[in-house]
Parts: sequence; C-alpha cells; structure tokens
Amino acid sequence: MSVADVHSEPSRNWLSRGDEPLLIAGPCSAESEEQLEEVAKVLSANGKVHLIRAGVWKPRTRPNSFEGLGAKALPWITRIQSEYGIPFTVEVAKAEHVEQALKAGIKHLWIGARTTVNPFSVQEIADALRGVDIPVFVKNPLNPDLQLWIGAFERLNKTGIDKLVAIHRGFNTYQDHVFRNSPNWEIPIELKTKLPDLEIIVDPSHIGGKRSLLAGVAQKAFDLGFDGLMVETHPNPDKALSDPKQQVSLHGFDAFISQLQTRREGFEDAVSINKLQRLRDLIDEVDYILLEQLAKRNQIVKEIGEYKADSGVAIFQLERWIEILKDRQQYGETGGLDEQLIRDIWKAIHNASIRLQTEIVQKHKLDA
Ligand code: PEP
Ligand code: MN
Repeated sequence: MSVADVHSEPSRNWLSRGDEPLLIAGPCSAESEEQLEEVAKVLSANGKVHLIRAGVWKPRTRPNSFEGLGAKALPWITRIQSEYGIPFTVEVAKAEHVEQALKAGIKHLWIGARTTVNPFSVQEIADALRGVDIPVFVKNPLNPDLQLWIGAFERLNKTGIDKLVAIHRGFNTYQDHVFRNSPNWEIPIELKTKLPDLEIIVDPSHIGGKRSLLAGVAQKAFDLGFDGLMVETHPNPDKALSDPKQQVSLHGFDAFISQLQTRREGFEDAVSINKLQRLRDLIDEVDYILLEQLAKRNQIVKEIGEYKADSGVAIFQLERWIEILKDRQQYGETGGLDEQLIRDIWKAIHNASIRLQTEIVQKHKLDA
C-alpha cells in the first residue's frame, strides 16, 4: 500500500461542523464527575466546540504522576455526553482501553504521542477497532518522524478505519526550548502534502506548555490553514492534576477562541479572483524570465567546464565561490533580498554547476 492509498473522510461529514474549524476542548484528565459535568455544561452552551476531550488513561513519561482515573470515569462520561448532547473523546493506548471505551458508548478515540511511536501498540488498537466505524484522531509521535506518523494512519486504514484526523502536538526536544514541544511546522505541512485528504488539527496546549504561548500557536495554526484545534480547558487550571500550566480556564475559553482570526481557504468574489489571477500571471512571467536566465547561465557554465577540462584546471575554486556569494548578497540587498535567501539559492545553483562541470571533465578523461 502506498501513502496515496490512505483514505480519510472529512470530519464535516461525521461532525456537523460545516466550514467551521474543528474544535476539541476539555481537561487534560477526567478528575471527577463534577468537573466533567461543569465542562460539558459550559462547552455545550458555547456552541463552538464539537467534541470534549478528557484523558481517562494517561500514559506519563515518569511514574508517580497522575495516571488518570481509568475505567472509573467511564460511566460519568456515558451519562454526561448523552445528557448534554455533546460527544466526548478519550485517549486509548491498548486494546483493553478501546474495548472499555466502546462499551461505555464513547465514539471518538484518540491515540497519544507516546503510543504513536510504537507500531505494535498502534497495530493492537487498529486490530481492536476492526469492523468498528468510528473516528480516530492520531497525535504525531514524540519524535519528528513523519514516516511513523503516516504508518499509524496506514495501519488504521488497513483495518477499515477511514474517519481519521491528525493532531499536531509538537515534537520533544532534548534542549530547552521556548515551547514545551517544538512545533516544526514543516512536518505537518509535509503530511498535508503527502495525504491531502487528511484533516490536521493543532494542539497548542502541548506545543506551548505555558498558557501565555497558546494563543500565538493557535493563531499560527489558522494562519497556516490547519483544520482546527484541540485545546486543554479546565475549570480551575492551576489545580489540575495533570498539565496545570498549559490549560485554558473553562470560563475564559470563549474569549480565547474569539480572539483568533480564522482564514478563508481562498477568495470567493470575482474582483478578488481577478486580482489574484493577475498577480499570479505576473509571477508566472517572472518565473519564466528566471528560467530562461538560468538556462543561459547553464550554457556558460558548460563552456567554462570545457575550458577547465582542456586546461586541467580544478572545477571548484574556493576564492571564486566566496567572491560570488558575497557579491550576489550585496547586489540582492539593494533589492531588499535577504542574505539567507541568496545563500540558499546560490548554494543550489553553485552545486548544480559543479555537478555539470564534473560530468564534462569525466567525459573528457574517458574520451582521452
Ligand atoms: C494529552 O493529550 O493530555 C497528552 C498526554 O498528550 P500527548 O500524547 O500529545 O503528549
Ligand atoms: Mn495533557
């Protein structure tokens, strides 16, 4: 099975959410029946939230942290989700969790970062879900390994799960970082490129690790066109039994969400479409000029290659390369171009020239 075979049905089909961003909110952990009831009361009245999260089984990095209440919390969820008419989602890490959650009528499950890293665990969950048509959210693995993340979708898809959503929660780093988990936005963007049908939502709580960072991460998620958010939300965050620093207060949730600006996927009216088209036509023209000039440059590179081959001169000339880079950066600066951009582009151009000239020199040797 190739990556392109992963099939995922958009969540607007199975959550009545139209074009709104998919929103999941709720506490890191289910702590008591009262806590869950208060969360459901406020978030169901808010009307923007599609699913309530609450960790029942909590895989923790170190022992002696709160590991969740386990099956004891399930009957509370069963009652509260039916009473308030808002579905819950819980984290599952093994087959037994899947069975117990399904028995309790929980119809949305998520796989945590500590589980996605282990193909045996993901396979066990996929097997426990065979023949069950429910949505599964998959957080990225702890480490920045896109293949492992994709592998989890493939395993679930193979056992018939096609309501899949990715959750980007950032990646663990050894060094201290502003964020608790480094966002490495290029990884979820690459996932989107590889699996264009898959919706990806962002978990600003586990990326940020601190309340003050959450809004910035959430806004970035919308700016980059991701499909929604999972935000840890607690009635009394500072007293939370797990992740107290990164939860939004339940009563502040509406203000938190309302401050974010969502972006449309494209322009809808004719005037904007025409303007965009005109600008894109201009970009196309400039790109063709760049390509023509690059082809011209290549011809000269070839001529120099022949000359070096004939006269036995080395292909790579350090001084010339340093001089080119410095000169192009200075020239680029007059047009407001960033030094780093010029360095990246000219490195690529210079490497391609070296490759071309190497081929020419080798051919000369063979012909000689
Ligand atoms: C969680 O969602 O509370 C959690 C443990 O997250 P993660 O799997 O992303 O670490
Ligand atoms: Mn958490």
